[in-house]
Amino acid sequence: MPEADPQLFDKIVNLSKRRGFVFQSAEIYGGFRSTYDYGPLGVLLLRNVKDAWWRNMVQMRHDVVGLDASILSPPQVWEASGHLSNFSDPLVDCTNCNARHRLDKLDDPNVCPTCDTTGSFTEAREFNLMFKTNAGPVTETAAEVYLRPETAQGMFINFANVLNTSRKKPPFGIAQIGKSFRNEITPGNFVFRTREFEQMEMEFFVPPEEASQWYDYWCQERMNWYLDLGMSPEMIRLRPHDDDELSHYSSATSDVEYLFPWGWDELEGIANRGDFDLTQHANASGEKLDYFDQTSGERYTPHVIEPAAGATRTAMAFLMAAYDEETVGDDTRTVLRLDHRLAPYKVAVLPLSKKETLTPTAHEVFDSIKGRWIADYDETQSIGKRYARQDEIGTPYCITVDFETIDDRAVTVRERDSREQDRVSLDQLEGYLAERLG
Ligand code: ATP
Repeated sequence: MPEADPQLFDKIVNLSKRRGFVFQSAEIYGGFRSTYDYGPLGVLLLRNVKDAWWRNMVQMRHDVVGLDASILSPPQVWEASGHLSNFSDPLVDCTNCNARHRLDKLDDPNVCPTCDTTGSFTEAREFNLMFKTNAGPVTETAAEVYLRPETAQGMFINFANVLNTSRKKPPFGIAQIGKSFRNEITPGNFVFRTREFEQMEMEFFVPPEEASQWYDYWCQERMNWYLDLGMSPEMIRLRPHDDDELSHYSSATSDVEYLFPWGWDELEGIANRGDFDLTQHANASGEKLDYFDQTSGERYTPHVIEPAAGATRTAMAFLMAAYDEETVGDDTRTVLRLDHRLAPYKVAVLPLSKKETLTPTAHEVFDSIKGRWIADYDETQSIGKRYARQDEIGTPYCITVDFETIDDRAVTVRERDSREQDRVSLDQLEGYLAERLG
């Protein structure tokens, strides 16, 4: 059985800061708790995670189309969706130390984990997680609006728009990637639970009798996505919800879970939501949100299968899955064994020295690569230190331009995982990389 590695947590947080993946937000002002900024490498990693999802869920399929809906929306949306009345977590206050906790996430519901006091909690009250603000210049008359706590409602309220314009018919899906906001009671575990985060969600609309078969299909598909991008099968599992965990409208839900340093926790939820969402919005808006099947002459409200993943949370899980320490001689080398598709930089161009004789050729190499692969260019420090840095940020290939390059028009290409080196002539370089990076 695989075991959680509690030490990995600090290593990832430190690496993230040291190498520029993730910074504490507003750090120069003391930091804004539980919000994070993605630095030069983090923004590339996060984008690669989202691109890999989009490619798999939209580009490679003819039955899913994309959407980018607004973040602000009026209360009617959230009234119909049930979020205004139900999107809450049970909150308890500790009367001893004033800490606030989410009751359903406590190891022991009677013990405050902040001060270890037993029986110090107030009665639980439901705390709504949505951020509310005002749209319009004058607060008193401005309309109340909400920041979306999930991207999914954008797909439901645009169901008819997409159906009428895309020439799709059930079974078909609408996919969206974007920011969501939840006023979490206890954010934490670095970017795992934050108040502002990114989601990757898809609503798949199907004829009611096909729902359970599509649910099984999407559970499998989604597991395959994580495995294909390099997560090891022992570190990831699909956990079906118990009956008491299911929302009232869902006949089946499973979570994709990863073995984080603190134990198994959720990356994604896949739910069979029945016709709940379309029916709610149809009733509340008075619009028809159903489908007329011309072949059978039947009108029905499609059922929905929803794979809902977190982009920011998943990016961190990929970092953790890729992190490795390897003994090389007397040293330990840290290497991020990221799948090439996720690696922030695919290639690093490293002139052996900063001497002017090497610069033009090194620039020439960088220029020949940059259009096709995101590349780093680094000319300071010893070559050993520069290799170590590239290993630590997961760059699959380092290209060293040395003094012989000027004469033989060839460079040394070093592979990250094996540390093996090949001498490759400049006119073969693109083909060499293309074979390996795609
Ligand atoms: P949890 O039980 O952890 O609060 P949830 O079951 O409410 O999460 P969903 O509503 O199913 O989460 O959201 C889908 C996905 O969005 C989650 O699996 C997760 O990856 C991501 N997500 C949800 N809340 C957060 C958050 N506060 N910070 C980062 N990612 C989040």
